[in-house]
Order: sequence, then structure tokens, then C-alpha cells
Amino acid sequence: MLTIDRIAAFSDNYIWVLSSSGDGPTMVVDPGDAAPVRRWLQDQRRELGAILITHHHADHTGGVRELNEEGRVPVLGPARPELPFVTDQLRDGSRVSELGISLEVLSTPGHTRDHLSFVGDGFALTGDTLFAGGCGRLFEGTAEQMYASLMRLAALPPATKIYCGHEYTAANLAFALEVEPENAALQERLQRALAARREGRATVPSTLAVELATNPFLRCGEAAVFRAASRFAGYRLSPGPETLAVVRRWKDGWTPAGGR
Ligand code: ZN
Ligand code: FE
Repeated sequence: MLTIDRIAAFSDNYIWVLSSSGDGPTMVVDPGDAAPVRRWLQDQRRELGAILITHHHADHTGGVRELNEEGRVPVLGPARPELPFVTDQLRDGSRVSELGISLEVLSTPGHTRDHLSFVGDGFALTGDTLFAGGCGRLFEGTAEQMYASLMRLAALPPATKIYCGHEYTAANLAFALEVEPENAALQERLQRALAARREGRATVPSTLAVELATNPFLRCGEAAVFRAASRFAGYRLSPGPETLAVVRRWKDGWTPAGGR
């Protein structure tokens, strides 16, 4: 039985730990910081067995060298000059098969041009592509690429658990409500997320079904979303990538009421 544990890092990053047995070596996903991972491994009496990387940003990779000083464990991730420590370069259609863990590799560009997502049995690790209630900023890719990436993830079974790289959910949902104020599922989800955060609980993982019902970036084909985006843009948008581009731009310039 595969288990997935969560390590919090920095102010809002999540480092996921995959284990196929109760005491064997583990696979650590996106260790932006070595210290909390070291601490977790010590507390749990576990050994690091492999490192998996979704994309090159420092908050996802900054701890790799320190965790793997002697280069003992395989580091799997995108082929990219910023990641010289990657030992197993992955691309779309690759399969991760390590430590009894099997994952399908999906190329999901948009946030970066070579961002990868990983799909296992009933779950997906989506890094900074699909967030709970949102999606990553378009640093290197286009809206068309992000749209296609999100649609690939959207095609997974609705019960798929979504493990993303950040606890951004409450702010994402507050913005989503600007786009879709009438969406009852979204209103409820925001209240649940705010309650969870007040109590110090994580809102991740979510499920794809919840994202499909509430995440505006997965809903660019819904009339309510492309109409709201059209009003924001000041002209009539087509559903799909064009709407996503505007919703993304809208969110980039948006700050929650009350500031922050
Ligand atoms: Zn990133
Ligand atoms: Fe990040």
C-alpha cells in the first residue's frame, strides 16, 4: 500500500513523501528545503531512497544537493541546465519505477516550459501546474500550453486526489469567487478552506471532482467563467485558452479584499 506524507516547507510549500512500505526507503517530491525533510526522515526513522522533481524553481529543488550530498540516490526530473543533479531525465510518457512506486509522467508545460506532473494509482502530483482552486503563473509557457496541461489532468478519473506544491487554496478560492460569485460549491469550499486554515489544517490534497466544480482555470469552457472573463477583458472571449489567458491575467493583478 502506497502512503503519501506531507512535509511543510517555507511559508506555503508542500514536500510530498511517497512510501510503498511502512519502513523502506522513501521518495521525496520537490524538496525545496533540506532541513524539514531531514527532520521528518529522522522522526519517522526512514531513509531517503529517491528524489522526484516537477520543475526547476528553487522552492522545489533547493534542498536536493544537501539531501543527496554523496549522490547516493537517484534524482528524477526534467532535462534542464538548472538541474545538473538530475540522474534520470524524464519526459512525457516516461514511467517512474523506483522503490516499488510506479508513476506515469505527464508533460504539463505552462508554469515552466518543461514542468512535469506524475500520475499514480488514484492520485496525481501536480507541482505548480494545477493548484487546489487555481493554477500556476505563466512564467515560461503560454495560456494555450497551460490550458492543454490542465485539460490532460482534467481527463483523469474524478476521484483522483490532487497533491499540489503549495497551500494557496484559500486565496485561490477567494479569487475564484470573484469570477463565479453564484457557484454554490465554490462558496462552500471557500468556507471549508478558511475553517481548515484557522485550525491549522492543510487543504491539500483535494480531488479532481472538487477542482472541476470550483477551479476557474478548469472551467474556462463554462458560460459563467467565460462571460465573467469577457466582462473583465471588455470584449467577448471564446471559451478555452483565450478565457484562461484573461482569467490568469485577472488573477495576477488581483489582491484579496483587506489587502495582503
Ligand atoms: Zn514554481
Ligand atoms: Fe512553487
